[in-house]
Amino acid sequence: MEIRNGSCGCGSLKYQIEGDPINSVFCYCKECQKTTGSDKWFGTWIPKNNFKIIEGSPLIYSRQGDSGKDLNLLFCPDCGVNICAEVTVGNFYSVAVSTIDDIHNIKPTMSIYTASAPNWAVFPADVPKFDILPPDMGG
Ligand SMILES: [Zn+2]
Ligand SMILES: [Zn+2]
Repeated sequence: MEIRNGSCGCGSLKYQIEGDPINSVFCYCKECQKTTGSDKWFGTWIPKNNFKIIEGSPLIYSRQGDSGKDLNLLFCPDCGVNICAEVTVGNFYSVAVSTIDDIHNIKPTMSIYTASAPNWAVFPADVPKFDILPPDMGG
């Protein structure tokens, strides 16, 4: 089974992903814009059992998603980099693709919350767009 490694900016937090993602998603919601300093978050969705922190212990910031269920954002206490969000309603982690060592083979499969995107956002033509989160996908 394929293993991917990742880390925060300073290397205090290290993690491992086993197997393939469920989905790889550009999220244009306002919260993700604030988190990233950009127009979107690129998260690859990993079933909870396939994501393991192997070094360090993250700080956690919890907020409610649109579903009303918690989103738990995991940060490095030293450098502040957000490595992933635990999406409790969907039982998966949305891992920040930027923190994965080898990101070239992870490509976006959908764009969500595009209604919240800034008017200068550029959307890849071959990636399906959704104004919010498709109702069957948790959140
Ligand atoms: Zn760090
Ligand atoms: Zn978002």
